[in-house]
Amino acid sequence: GAKDEGRNCFRFHSENLDQQVHERVRVADELRTALDEGELELYYQPQVELATGRVTGLEALVRWNHKTRGLLTPASFVPIAERTGAILPLGNWVFDEACRQMKAWHAEGVAPEVLAVNVSGIQLKSGAELEREVEASLVRWNVNPNDVELELTESVLMEVTQRHSNTLENLRRLGTRIAIDDFGTGYSSLKYLTTYPVNRLKLAQEFVFRVTVDYRNAAVVRAAIRLAHELGLDVIAEGVETEAQMRFLIGAGCEQAQGYYFSRPVTAAMPPRSSAKDGSHRPRRSPIHLGGV
Ligand code: C2E
Ligand code: MG
Ligand code: MG
Ligand code: MG
Repeated sequence: GAKDEGRNCFRFHSENLDQQVHERVRVADELRTALDEGELELYYQPQVELATGRVTGLEALVRWNHKTRGLLTPASFVPIAERTGAILPLGNWVFDEACRQMKAWHAEGVAPEVLAVNVSGIQLKSGAELEREVEASLVRWNVNPNDVELELTESVLMEVTQRHSNTLENLRRLGTRIAIDDFGTGYSSLKYLTTYPVNRLKLAQEFVFRVTVDYRNAAVVRAAIRLAHELGLDVIAEGVETEAQMRFLIGAGCEQAQGYYFSRPVTAAMPPRSSAKDGSHRPRRSPIHLGGV
């Protein structure tokens, strides 16, 4: 009867929930050893100056070479790490590894102008610990703080309190740059644009994606670029996948872009040295596309 079905239904859902919780605990456990065993790796995606096609920056994006599940992208473990606190050691490792790689690229004479690193809201809330770790890695690898950009998402900045605001000020005082990631996807309060020490806006992929098919997205992107410029901020568009999107962005006055059109994230072993030297903006073929995820 309906009652039995209801009960079965309940059992079904609760087993599902058990599985989810179990899965989360397992991932959190595995993450702890993954760090020690060197299973995490940074991939790098080029940031391109639209006027010249020159690669000016790289964004570090973490990957997990999982023993049995293969190469995992952050969506499958960063949120779990954030809920369990593992994001602090993970985030420290990411920043230190990014600095180590920057130093190595400098030694080879191929360092990008800027290396962007994602920072979780949990890291920002750790305040003094984040400041300490950032400074320690910069010193350890002798990296110029101004060559490093910390990316905080708009939704994280929306929750910034006075205490975190001091942390942002301290990080800027150290000399690092700060970018607002996924700009346009939070509630886009314009207040923090005038309140926090930000260097650039990263226009969210979901707007860029539709600029050529939806006039409203086009309007938002054009207005965001103008607003940023009037505030003295640089703008970079994320998730550029087509030539049409790139042309639109150039027309709208956007200086920089990032996306599969130029290159997927690639390993440090095949760094994107330069691109489209002739200014043709043709996406590069191998080796840049090999092994990208
Ligand atoms: P994000 O910082 O906004 O990074 C951009 C994401 O978009 C990356 O996904 C990148 O691979 C992807 N992407 C780049 N160009 C294109 C494109 O043209 N089309 C499409 N469809 N996607 C594109 P990924 O590497 O999977 O990272 C996802 C998110 O995970 C990042 O978003 C960032 O919020 C977070 N994340 C990545 N690495 C770290 C890290 O080291 N620490 C923390 N806390 N978060 C990280
Ligand atoms: Mg980012
Ligand atoms: Mg983003
Ligand atoms: Mg994101």
